[in-house]
Amino acid sequence: MTLFLKNTRGLIVYPFSGIGADFAVMAGRRAAATFNLTARTGDQLEPPWDALNKRRRQYRSGSLLSRMPAADELAGGPFAVLGITDLDIFVPRLNYVFGQTDQARGCALVSLARLRPEFYAKPPNRQLFEERTEKEVVHELGHVFGLAHCPDPACIMHFSNTIEDTDSKGPGFCAICSRLLFQGPV
Ligand SMILES: [Zn+2]
Ligand SMILES: [Zn+2]
Repeated sequence: MTLFLKNTRGLIVYPFSGIGADFAVMAGRRAAATFNLTARTGDQLEPPWDALNKRRRQYRSGSLLSRMPAADELAGGPFAVLGITDLDIFVPRLNYVFGQTDQARGCALVSLARLRPEFYAKPPNRQLFEERTEKEVVHELGHVFGLAHCPDPACIMHFSNTIEDTDSKGPGFCAICSRLLFQGPV
């Protein structure tokens, strides 16, 4: 099942432990505005006990995603489902990811762990941190609504391999992605 934006009733943001509800609301509202959706906050979630890879000191992204409800499991839905975590997450074969989407279940996860400038030994910058968060959230929600990675380096759906990629791309969709998102596949 791919969730189409035009059938979606709203966005629900689930903060994982460590994320304040106010931050989840802020991130959700900003991203939801891009999609013309209303956002609300869901219950706080805990990562499953087996999500941690002790050797890597990182958490399995798929494990956290499995804790989140699917888009069509929620009453009055379908709702796009977004999880926000402070934990550093990975998927097999990649050192880390900024986020991951389970398209079949209509839910996405974004990690804040590598979005703060302090992670890269730079001075704190709240505005930059919030911009990065919004970009990663909009990117993952783009996947939720069926978009793939885009070859246009300025498009929000361009793949971010490093934080520099995130910083250099724009906050919005290119014309092609925008058409797919708002009108659906032709
Ligand atoms: Zn992506
Ligand atoms: Zn694009």
